[in-house]
Amino acid sequence: MGKKIKYIVLHISDSSWGTAMEINNWHQQRGWKEIGYHEVILNGFPTAQHKSKNIRDEMLDGSVEIGRELDPNATLESDEYGAQVKGFNSKSMGICCIAKTGDKITSKQMEKLRLRVAYNLKKFDLPAHAVRGHSELDPKKPYCPGINLDLFRKAVQNLIDKENKKEEAVKPPPIPKPPPIEMIKEGQEPPPPPGYPPGNKLIRAIKAFFEELGK
Ligand SMILES: [Zn+2]
Repeated sequence: MGKKIKYIVLHISDSSWGTAMEINNWHQQRGWKEIGYHEVILNGFPTAQHKSKNIRDEMLDGSVEIGRELDPNATLESDEYGAQVKGFNSKSMGICCIAKTGDKITSKQMEKLRLRVAYNLKKFDLPAHAVRGHSELDPKKPYCPGINLDLFRKAVQNLIDKENKKEEAVKPPPIPKPPPIEMIKEGQEPPPPPGYPPGNKLIRAIKAFFEELGK
């Protein structure tokens, strides 16, 4: 039985460069089965060479890579457990930004992190306070992920509110009720529909004409 996802835990990689594949190598070297994070947001330095030559790949700055695979439901099977924080792995998903401890994540990473967190909160039906920094769950990691988490949660909530308003705005207007049909009493002539010639009068006149002929 899978366990419900209750938290989204945020990390930085403590490396100034890297990709999901690279982190996967690092984590396997630690003896883990595979990468501990479910999503990785790059900083534009995918390799050590990019960093040492200071060549930032702008297209990769703020791009998302899938780490440990998550199936689309809101529960975690044991093979989906990441490595976020002791005691939380079976009930959280983890997103990691490539950044060295003490460095700020890039503005493109921040923008994408907000979008990914808002998306995943909606997907897993979680409130903004389900977002936790690694530092909030483990006092031994005070610099991970090194962002103002209260401001971050507020910004994410704003994004979700905006998105909900947009969805509200594109909803089609309610279909107006048709006017009530007037019941016609027996023997009474129904009123002609607006804009049409009074058909019944004409038919009666023709009938009368033929009746007259038939006499
Ligand atoms: Zn961390």
